Amino acid sequence: MPPMESPHLCQPDADKSCGACCGLYNYRESSRSGLEARLKRRTEAFRKIGRYTPEALKGFSDWVRHTEPQGKLLETIHNCEFLGFLDGQMRRVGCLLHPCLHRGEDLRDCSFYGAELCDGHLCLSYQKLTRSEKWAVILSLDDWYLYGICITDIDLCKDFFAHAAGRLGAEPAVSVLSRPAVRASLGDFFSLKVSWPYRTEDGDRFGKYCFAEDEYREARIPYEEIGCSKSRYDRILVSLGSAFSSAEELRTAERMIEDKITAFVQICQGCNGLHCA
Ligand code: SF4
Ligand code: SF4
Repeated sequence: MPPMESPHLCQPDADKSCGACCGLYNYRESSRSGLEARLKRRTEAFRKIGRYTPEALKGFSDWVRHTEPQGKLLETIHNCEFLGFLDGQMRRVGCLLHPCLHRGEDLRDCSFYGAELCDGHLCLSYQKLTRSEKWAVILSLDDWYLYGICITDIDLCKDFFAHAAGRLGAEPAVSVLSRPAVRASLGDFFSLKVSWPYRTEDGDRFGKYCFAEDEYREARIPYEEIGCSKSRYDRILVSLGSAFSSAEELRTAERMIEDKITAFVQICQGCNGLHCA
């Protein structure tokens, strides 16, 4: 049973973690395999450094920047060279300079942001997501790539829960979200982030954002071009990076989302104590 307090989103457990604000997904090539290879190479090289002096860390930083493909989505966001894997199984992404890896010594002052900024930063998901929404993502995903994409996608989480709560009459309690069938159903929905068949091929798009000439804006689905009005699932469809060439495609996409929400609602309804904390 998850504890009552709000969870830590960056490093929630031993099975996954997030590195989004360290620039993890700010590469034009942000596929799972591409990012995994990038982080693995860095981590292996970092572990071979020996003594982590400021000069050695500067050398590592230069090596990463000069030998890795640097194509970014947004130039003004820093992609930190010190993001790597924290564990040997490559399950948790995180900061290679963090004191927990260096017997309490904080090496983050050798980074672009510095220790104080890195330590104090909490993204909007901490404020905006409810306790249930946070636990829903944590309990249903055990993969760093998908977890980081979903825990930072406030629209996706909120809209899914708004539709589900509208039918359930309330947001499901965390005790319900921790049931295996509920977790599996949530995982099915969140997995759409990587398996969505209507995701645009546009390389300047990531989730709901479009990037162009060092600026970004929220994407919009041009429903009028396919003779449709705005979908009731618009925010979810935008978060999934959707593009449709026909009304039929849009209807199929809506049914796919509807099916996931319905499955989740039905499983929750089958649980006793739906609204207990
Ligand atoms: S984006 Fe949010 S959850 Fe992810 S590492 Fe940064 S602060 Fe933590
Ligand atoms: S130094 Fe800061 S920005 Fe870089 S990986 Fe560590 S926490 Fe992230």
